[in-house]
Amino acid sequence: MSAPEKTENAPREWWPALKTGFACRCPACAEGRMFGSYLKVNANCTACGEELHHHRADDAPPYFTIFIVAHIIGAMMLWVEQHNDALPIWIHIAVWPVLTLALMFWFLPRIKGALVGYQWALRMHGFETAPASKIIGETA
Ligand SMILES: [Zn+2]
Repeated sequence: MSAPEKTENAPREWWPALKTGFACRCPACAEGRMFGSYLKVNANCTACGEELHHHRADDAPPYFTIFIVAHIIGAMMLWVEQHNDALPIWIHIAVWPVLTLALMFWFLPRIKGALVGYQWALRMHGFETAPASKIIGETA
């Protein structure tokens, strides 16, 4: 007797998958690590074996990262300028680039993970035809 068919193409909720991806975890099991290195998505989940290589994040993660970080840094710069008009220019030169880079490096893998989770949930690209992941706890 085969596995129940309702798990084959059951709808996936995109919001939990997006949040799990933001945590850099597999959207299917939320246990396995999504990345093998800083931005390299594992071909398969290290915990459940779900195929993750179907993603097509392309240049969306840098786009969204720049969009978010620029708004955060821009708002902070305006706020500091309004409230500290006597602040020397060298402090601006020292603080803003470092803070911008730190936020970029922090957000970039998380946003890429969120996008991969979103694509997985909506069965975009190769995720549509990928075999259904094993049910957690099922023995082979
Ligand atoms: Zn997994």
